[in-house]
Formats: sequence, structure tokens, C-alpha cells
Amino acid sequence: MNPAPKTRKRVLSGMRPTGKLHLGNFVGALQNWVGMQDKYECYFCVVDWHALTTDYADTSKVKENSLEVAFDWLAAGLDPEKSVIFMQSHVPAHAELHLLLSMITPLGWLERVPTYKEQKENIQDKDLGTYGFLGYPLLMASDILVYKGEVVPVGEDQAAHVEITREIARRFNGFYGPVFPEPQTLLTPAAKLPGTDGRKMSKSYGNTIQLADPEPVVRQKLKTMVTDPARVRRTDPGNPDVCPVGDLHKIFSSKETIAKVDAGCRSAGIGCIECKSWAADALVQLLNPIQERRKKFEENPRLAWDILEAGTERARKAADQTMVDVRAAMGMSLEYEAPKVTTK
Ligand code: SF4
Repeated sequence: MNPAPKTRKRVLSGMRPTGKLHLGNFVGALQNWVGMQDKYECYFCVVDWHALTTDYADTSKVKENSLEVAFDWLAAGLDPEKSVIFMQSHVPAHAELHLLLSMITPLGWLERVPTYKEQKENIQDKDLGTYGFLGYPLLMASDILVYKGEVVPVGEDQAAHVEITREIARRFNGFYGPVFPEPQTLLTPAAKLPGTDGRKMSKSYGNTIQLADPEPVVRQKLKTMVTDPARVRRTDPGNPDVCPVGDLHKIFSSKETIAKVDAGCRSAGIGCIECKSWAADALVQLLNPIQERRKKFEENPRLAWDILEAGTERARKAADQTMVDVRAAMGMSLEYEAPKVTTK
């Protein structure tokens, strides 16, 4: 395994272990990560502690879900020879840094994070008035800073998390001296990926197409997918720009198919059933090789676990080094130092 050259900037990103990943996770993050591996020194982390910030009452699935995420990552092309792939909770330095940073982070900074306010309003079935939930942006900041992450790929809705990380890094450096770089946001181009009901694809809406869905399931989900509501009869012309299936074509189909859909839909030359089958073809073509690679890990989950463990070792080394710098900057190194004031 060749260590990455020092000239490459360090990237840090993670995903919560919510189980099998769907196309929205792929298009919104994973595909982008795969492409970053040759350009950056990448650290990709299954952030299992983050799962506890909302799902603290039932933790029985966290470990299993973490493995499922790892299967999908590896199947989609994250390469342990190129990137450090690991579990957050196996690197205790995240927690130590979280605690230290919590001492210097004003409450108001956490309360004004937009996703904190949104989720608190939207998630009604759980009590999110917890210390852990308020502090989750700080845990995220610790995840990044403990590796001195320089670049953080995020969607637009997550940009505020990087901003608060930059503010916390600045505040720490101001108090104790320069330890942390201020990480840069790398915005992931946001493709509009609708779920089968036309809303944003999301596990919480139950409208996903999973990376691991077998071909018949993908085809069935496409069959029931909503279309342009104005196209009621086969003879009605439609508009692919307002149709969720049209959006899928724009992301996954070839130029030729997109042109065929555009012309055929607007002139009522094609039916929605045919159009959906073309979208399903494109998805199956994308998913087949991913599922082929996934099989190896499903049949032998230990392989994925070992990869996570090896990644954790590498992550731990980098994080421990940062903590040496952090403690030294704060005058709290673990080394013996003779007292400066002596008595007679
Ligand atoms: S033909 Fe295709 S793009 Fe047009 S409304 Fe039907 S499914 Fe949508």
C-alpha cells in the first residue's frame, strides 16, 4: 500500500449508517467520492456515532447497518488501496476532540445551524431535545478537524456544517495557536434525483431505489413511478422536464435515449411504459457491476470488516498525531513537565 504523496490535499467525508444505500446517496455523494480518490488523500468514515444523535433509543441495527454501508461503498468503487475507509467509533480521538471543542463552542453557533432547526421541527416521533443532538455539528467538526481535513465534499444543504467547522477551527487557533487548517467546502453538483413518488429520493419517504435492488425490483419500482401528471392518456403529449422519469433519464441515460424521450414524450410518440423501461435499462446497466462486486462482501462480510479495521488503524495514527498537537497547544500534553513555580 503506497502512502499518498503529501502534496495531495486531505479530504474527509462520512455517511451515517442508515442501512443499504440508494441512488440518491450514490448520485449525491458516493459517485463523487469514487472520482476523488486519485486526486486527494481521502478519509471516508462510517459515522456510526452520528446515528445515535437521533436514533439513540434503539441501537440494535447500528453495527449491521454500518457493514451494509461499507458493502455499498466498496461495491461502488471506494478502494482501500487508495483511501482510508473506517468506522468513526473505532477512533476514540473523535470523542476526545469533540469534548475539548465543546468547551470553546458558543451554544448560539450550534442552535443556528439550519439542519438542527429543520430536523427538530420535522422529526416529531423522537425527543431531540438532547445534548447529543444539539452537538452533532460539533461532532462533525471534530470528525474533520481530527484529521486536519482540508477539503470537505458536501451538498449545498450541508455547507453550513463546514462553515461552523471553519469558525471553530479559527476560534481554537485564536486561543491556543495554529493547529487546524480551515477546511474548504467542495460543493457536490446537486443533480435532481426524484424518488418513485416524485419527491426527493429519501429513505424516510420510502421512495428509494437501492443500489442492491435486483433487476426485477428496479423494473417494478419504475413501473409504479409517477409521471408528468398532465399526461393522463397515451395520446396526451407530455413534458419530460416536469416528469420524475424524465429526471432519471437526464442523469442515467445516454444522449441518444434522452433525445428520443424528449421528442417522443412531447409528441405522444412514445408511451410512459416504454419510456420507463428505457430508464430501468439504464439503471440496471449501472447497478449490475455494483451488485456483482457487492456479492463478494455479502457472501463474506468479514472481508468488509477487515477492510474497515485496517482503515481504522491508519485513521487512528493520523488522529492520534493531531491530538498530540492539540494537547500540546492547550498546555495539556501527556508528557511529564517539571512545575514552573517552585517553593522554597
Ligand atoms: S413519456 Fe416518459 S418523460 Fe414523458 S411523461 Fe411518460 S414517463 Fe414521463
